Amino acid sequence: LKAHVVARVCPPDPSSLSCSLSLAASYTDSSDDETSPRDKQQKNSKGSGDFCIKNIKQADFGRREIEIAEQEMPALMALRKRAQGEKPLAGAKVVGCTHITAQTAVLMETLSALGAQCRWAACNIYSTQNEVAAALAEGGFSVFAWKGESEDDFWWCIDRCVNLEGWQPNMILDDGGDLTHWVYKKYPNMFKKIKGIVEESVTGVHRLYQLSKAGKLCVPAMNVNDSVTKQKFDNLYCCRESILDGLKRTTDVMFGGKQVVVCGYGEVGKGCCAALKAMGSIVYVTEIDPICALQACMDGFRLVKLNEVIRQVDIVITCTGNKNVVVREYLDRMKNGCIVCNMGHSNTEIDVASLRTPELTWERVRSQVDHVIWPDGKRIVLLAEGRLLNLSCSTVPTFVLSITATTQVPCVPVCVWDL
Ligand code: NAD
Repeated sequence: LKAHVVARVCPPDPSSLSCSLSLAASYTDSSDDETSPRDKQQKNSKGSGDFCIKNIKQADFGRREIEIAEQEMPALMALRKRAQGEKPLAGAKVVGCTHITAQTAVLMETLSALGAQCRWAACNIYSTQNEVAAALAEGGFSVFAWKGESEDDFWWCIDRCVNLEGWQPNMILDDGGDLTHWVYKKYPNMFKKIKGIVEESVTGVHRLYQLSKAGKLCVPAMNVNDSVTKQKFDNLYCCRESILDGLKRTTDVMFGGKQVVVCGYGEVGKGCCAALKAMGSIVYVTEIDPICALQACMDGFRLVKLNEVIRQVDIVITCTGNKNVVVREYLDRMKNGCIVCNMGHSNTEIDVASLRTPELTWERVRSQVDHVIWPDGKRIVLLAEGRLLNLSCSTVPTFVLSITATTQVPCVPVCVWDL
């Protein structure tokens, strides 16, 4: 109660945050240009305008980011070398929807070096590295993405990727299933030419199974998530290495001694728990699967029900791939200052929509950080509006993504030519 009163009497002064804001600016676009990329004339130095990005002038900076990523992606670079200038993927027309980061750029440039044509949009409105998108556009890629897209922009970008006169994709490379969903909804005839779908995330795979059960999946789909090279590396180690980064950059929180509840003890949850435990946090786990629950116990974590600990924890992290895991009832009961974030693919794990009610005040205190304030002064710290934290607010380790990306490349000939 004391904490509530203090928060009401002394709300944080946003101006006092300006120093930390500028420190955090290295991963955000600090430019004041508010013009929507959709309203800008887009042209690269060769006169092509078949892309939509934030600022083409950032291309050189983005190129350096891509070169740095190449150092840690030896398998993709080896694929390029092995092709020795030959074009084994010639004829493949890949439409992609993934996080547009330096690592994705190395994947796209590898596909292109092997002969595939690529058009790409972002699978998340916050995760695009604008400078990388600029480097890709400058390099001749049709990329439609910028950090901080609206929901409308998000679908517009996907549509621009797919809907081009005289060009039809023969393969979808998706992360989360939004691109697949869009093509099914808007351009079902395209599936006459599309030979296959490569899906990266467990969320997208669930959606594909739903399509399949409804008898609507008319092309083969490859589940990259279930490949051991994706699940046992990317999901686990990527999250183990980036959860702290995402939390630190957004909140500067100290982890030692903090009580944290992690919802879901799958690969992502295991990674998050391991990182937080190593930093001295007291970690609780919620699980619905008995084996994963047992694993959490064997690894030394306290298995709880969310309602048992929700009043006392300092940080809540969702990693279930499920929806409505943290609902309004729990958000109401959290203590003042509780940090709430999600590491799962979609923004439905935390019921953020339920916080958009008139009695609650939203205050944007940093890029990707909102304080949601209750009438009694209690505030929770919501990160990335419930979207996946690491890809929205930090960077991710290149090497593990290299392993996932290298799993995706051989899927292209399998899909397109049934090899
Ligand atoms: P997983 O299937 O291995 O683990 C999810 C776990 O959550 C399961 O053990 C399941 O029993 C549990 N669960 C489901 N509903 C629950 C609930 N209501 N309460 C508590 N536990 C619940 O999946 P994963 O590989 O850990 O991936 C989880 C999510 O993270 C997916 O959405 C995936 O797409 C995403 N992901 C994110 C990243 C990232 O970088 N942030 C990387 C890989 C995967």
